Amino acid sequence: MIDTLSPEVAWDNCLRIIRDNINPLTFKTWFEPIKPVRLDNSQLTIQVPHQFFYEWLEEHYYALIQKSLESVIGPNAKLVYRAVVEEEPGVKHPRPADLPPELAPSPFPQVRVNTPQEQPRQQRPQETTVLNPRYTFESFVKGESNQFACAACLAVANNPGTTSFNPLVLYGGVGLGKTHLMQAVGNFILARQSHKKVVYTSSDRFTIEFVEAIQNDRMHEFTNFYRNVDVLMVDDIQFFSGKEKTQDNFFHTFNALHQAGKQIILTCDRPPKELKGVDDRLISRFQCGLTTDIQPPDYETRIAILQLKSQTEGIDLPSDVVEYLARNITSNIRELEGCLISLIAHASLEGRELSVELAQKVLQNVAMVRKAQLSIQDIQKVVSAHFQINEDLLLEKTRKQEIAYARQIAMYLCKELTSHSLKTIGMHFGGRDHSTVIHAVQTIKLLVSKDDHTHRSVESIRRQLNFMSQ
Ligand code: ADP
Ligand code: MG
Repeated sequence: MIDTLSPEVAWDNCLRIIRDNINPLTFKTWFEPIKPVRLDNSQLTIQVPHQFFYEWLEEHYYALIQKSLESVIGPNAKLVYRAVVEEEPGVKHPRPADLPPELAPSPFPQVRVNTPQEQPRQQRPQETTVLNPRYTFESFVKGESNQFACAACLAVANNPGTTSFNPLVLYGGVGLGKTHLMQAVGNFILARQSHKKVVYTSSDRFTIEFVEAIQNDRMHEFTNFYRNVDVLMVDDIQFFSGKEKTQDNFFHTFNALHQAGKQIILTCDRPPKELKGVDDRLISRFQCGLTTDIQPPDYETRIAILQLKSQTEGIDLPSDVVEYLARNITSNIRELEGCLISLIAHASLEGRELSVELAQKVLQNVAMVRKAQLSIQDIQKVVSAHFQINEDLLLEKTRKQEIAYARQIAMYLCKELTSHSLKTIGMHFGGRDHSTVIHAVQTIKLLVSKDDHTHRSVESIRRQLNFMSQ
């Protein structure tokens, strides 16, 4: 009987049982986005949109899911999760040992090829993990912070390989939409020209594959694979740093594709010219097209993002809650999204209304986690390195302007990124008074909004700190 069940029917029957046991909002949030993928030998594979879905489901609904599976599939029923893998810079992916094997990130690039029977041999017959279908231009909110990047991506999507935007390099801090925009280009192209070979990978995956190809004597296959794409997207190229042999190989792939008029899109956490441990000739290749940044979103954009996301989730989010979230989560869209989902989850699990009060509670948890990670010393270290001054000078009495400026930026970031009191922060800066810290915080806050140079410095330092705290 099991053999005759399709994964869709099996999962549908499970959902019927699950739906009867939980409230509608929970069902909508956590179960509707799941897609059944496969059913073999009583083992049902489902695809979840994020890794945290897996964690959340296991933590909260393990018993219910297991019970429903057993009643539909039989006593040996087993569930395997597969997450749509999203690469995040600096984030350590769970190791295969910790998670069901299907959840571990695949070492292969995400490839979409549309007519499998026509695949030339060099295209590996791996299971095709498609681009994340959520990442489209329609679901991307445009604002001042990403306007230019977005326009460049649209231009490339319309004319891949034939604009002067080749390569197109998007750079910016964590969670600002680089991966989303890049994949939107891929999705756009495939929707219109389904025969194109669009390959999405990250520098990390490229490296892993390269090493494996050497070990398994499959260099020829590896090289052929990458030289025969129409659009190559490589995420987070900062992780090429220090990997000389991989860089060398990538350099040649890059040149071959570029010469053949194929489109290359790259993302990076900083401007390519600031990359350390990357060969100069590669950096200069990166710069021969268009490099554009994505800045943190302004207030209006954050509001628009929250509105769009809650609409997509089918949730009616009161405007005071939208404003509260937009005012308090300023640096990163991934966090904005995470808080929104967490808020919806809390509301559904605890049967509470979506209110500012609940949002405050959710945000407190997030802030505590984030703030616990960085120390005042971390910040002093990064700030002094940025301004190339001796760290001790931040603590001394000197009023020399450039040192006072660096000190004020460090104090401002300590206030913003740690949970220490003004008094404690002052103490760590050579025993200064809390009013000095207030003055520093206010001064820099003003400068960040008015002075481009300060804005850029603070963002660059923040990026490095983000990196440290991951
Ligand atoms: P990055 O690659 O820069 O770290 P991502 O592209 O992974 O960031 O974006 C993080 C999350 O924020 C994703 O879920 C993405 O869909 C969302 N996101 C980022 N920018 C926008 C935007 N302008 N509009 C809508 N969603 C966005
Ligand atoms: Mg990314």
